Amino acid sequence: MSRTKRRLIVVGGGAAGLMAAGRAAACGAEVLLLEKMREPGRKILISGKERCNITNAAPLERFLEAYYGRRGRFLRNAFHRFFRDELLALLHGYGVETQVERGGRIFPASGDAAAVRDALLRYALEHGAVLRTLAPVAELLREGDAVIGVRLESGERLSADAVILTTGGASFPGTGSTGDGYRMAEAVGHTLVPLRPALVPLRVKERARARAVQGVSLRNVRIAYFVRRAERFERLPPPAPLPPTGEMLFTHFGLSGPLVLSSSLAAVDALRRGEEVWLEIDLKPGMDEEAVRRRLQREFERFPHRRLPRLLRGWAPRKLADLLAAMSGIEGERPVHTIRAGERERLVRLFKHLRWQITDSLPMAAGMVTAGGVSLKEVDPYTFASRRVRRLYLAGEVLDIAADTGGYNLQAAFSGGYLAGEAAARGLGGRGG
Ligand SMILES: Cc1cc2nc3c(=O)[nH]c(=O)nc-3n(C[C@H](O)[C@H](O)[C@H](O)COP(=O)(O)OP(=O)(O)OC[C@H]3O[C@@H](n4cnc5c(N)ncnc54)[C@H](O)[C@@H]3O)c2cc1C
Repeated sequence: MSRTKRRLIVVGGGAAGLMAAGRAAACGAEVLLLEKMREPGRKILISGKERCNITNAAPLERFLEAYYGRRGRFLRNAFHRFFRDELLALLHGYGVETQVERGGRIFPASGDAAAVRDALLRYALEHGAVLRTLAPVAELLREGDAVIGVRLESGERLSADAVILTTGGASFPGTGSTGDGYRMAEAVGHTLVPLRPALVPLRVKERARARAVQGVSLRNVRIAYFVRRAERFERLPPPAPLPPTGEMLFTHFGLSGPLVLSSSLAAVDALRRGEEVWLEIDLKPGMDEEAVRRRLQREFERFPHRRLPRLLRGWAPRKLADLLAAMSGIEGERPVHTIRAGERERLVRLFKHLRWQITDSLPMAAGMVTAGGVSLKEVDPYTFASRRVRRLYLAGEVLDIAADTGGYNLQAAFSGGYLAGEAAARGLGGRGG
């Protein structure tokens, strides 16, 4: 009896894989979803502080910017076909109500990431996809210019009319995303854009200072990156536009918090190029230097006998006020009326240009996403089919896609997974099905 249904294997049951399996099965394919962990979607479960920031209410143009330039353009077609509204409609169909929060971030109204994972799993299973857990794939099997199946780590070989690779990135390996897909794609002829951690905390040279302010979190600050070129400091553009002001956090090793994470790839890439990198914090973005100067002077006149650390506590959290006072070089026991103009200038500079030299970032495992991956030039943006080998499709973080926080990474995985599932089920795209 001849088989009429296309037989597909989806490798990796994360955000992209669950969606791809569901869509492919809904399009009539016979789908086997192979997941190496005991359960699928573990990264979805920890996403958004276990509340899963599914997507964002921002306009499409903001989405495209959030993917760091060129990569955003690659996703334009996928978003045109399956975007936020389609995703939310699908989730609503499985009982997941959603709500929009600060910054347009969209979460399940229940506040539980498991609702999203479970809905996607039901979507796949109800359409007949078969899930096999504890089934790590070791290799894509290739014959000539086509992928014909996979080999599991156990040695078992499974054949398929097409394979969808959705193994995720290489960060937070405890979720199962250990970068296997990069090696598998490379082995069948794909090129990898170098892997780097993105959305990652940064380490600073001034460790003792960082420890002194460990745990201090700041709202409404502005940050900028600088590199030193030919003895001049040049400003580095962030990988995606940053909000004018935002939050950051000091840790025992350096800097973290939303503003720092969102822009960390700029520092990671500059360091990789061998450049010296500084991050500068503007603690008072609402005031220019002259306004800071005048306000300091007014307070010195109002409280002439106060000591500087105490006075600065009206300006910054206590630990940071103490650090700024120490960095100003003004002896702590001196009453502020003895502070000279040159000394006051040092304080002004500290408030407006508090510089930290970045030595490196935390390792890949600590990044929220992996930048780099399978080159987008080798993937068809209409079908997510490989342009290198036939019958292979790729979606999600295994591709050279990484975005800012805000729900953009999951939306990319869902949109790509949807398109890949549909195209693979119909045998479309790339160099033929
Ligand atoms: C702490 C944290 C919080 C995050 N929060 C958000 C958020 O709120 N919003 C957002 O948009 N993004 C968030 N992200 C990023 C987002 O979770 C990922 O970008 C997204 O999950 C990528 O989807 P994916 O399907 O490509 O990979 P994953 O979801 O990582 O899925 C890959 C799957 O493949 C499996 N796998 C890997 N190798 C093999 C193999 N050899 N054989 C079989 N299976 C394999 C893995 O076990 C895993 O289940 C967060 C990331 C982290 C680490």
